[in-house]
Amino acid sequence: MGRHVKRKRARSRVGQRSNPALQHSSTPSPHFRPAVFIDRDGTLNEMVYDETHGLLDSPRRPEQVRLVKGAAEFLRGLKKAGFMTVVVTNQPGVAKGTMTLEELYAVNRKIARLLEAGRSGWDDLCFCPHHPKGAKRAFAVKCNCRKPEPGMLIQAAGEHGIDLRRSWMVGDGLNDVQAGRAAGCRTLLVSRLKLDQVGKFFSLKDARPDAVAPGLKEALRIIVAAKAKGDRS
Ligand SMILES: [Mg+2]
Ligand SMILES: [Zn+2]
Repeated sequence: MGRHVKRKRARSRVGQRSNPALQHSSTPSPHFRPAVFIDRDGTLNEMVYDETHGLLDSPRRPEQVRLVKGAAEFLRGLKKAGFMTVVVTNQPGVAKGTMTLEELYAVNRKIARLLEAGRSGWDDLCFCPHHPKGAKRAFAVKCNCRKPEPGMLIQAAGEHGIDLRRSWMVGDGLNDVQAGRAAGCRTLLVSRLKLDQVGKFFSLKDARPDAVAPGLKEALRIIVAAKAKGDRS
């Protein structure tokens, strides 16, 4: 797992040590705070159409970056409601050799700058640069941080003192929901699919989200309302 700016070297030490946040998660402690883990591509920033492959893909250059509508307000609203915000993103392009770490950092910085312009931002960003079939030897591993594995969430929880049971994972993909569930978080799928379509799509094991929202505005409302309810009880 790698980190935005703070650490230049990508690591995969996830799962190699015990996690204090998990050990304490059976009794919510005021010392452990709730977080919202947020997927990057397709959730905070728009996917980019790749003409070479005819697919929607992650932006690889800063000039391709467009924020999803409401992204700045979403992060700002979560912070105001008392959540830490942690972006967790799979970036297998690093392992596949279609993107360098420097390019990844440049895209992350561009997203951060656009969010700053909206008086917003994240508290931390973690990325997985791995892929088991990668072309770059250093990153071609089966790791614990690539979603649907929960490694990025669990490691961030240990480092920041996050109470996973009071936290959420928000994303537009199946692997986001699976990673959130595996980490013991509540999960919210951002999708414009109708509910019954989502139901069919997510009949897979461990992939049913706790909530579905058509956009970030609705997602914020759901998470804040659930927190208010939890705080009262
Ligand atoms: Mg996504
Ligand atoms: Zn990884």
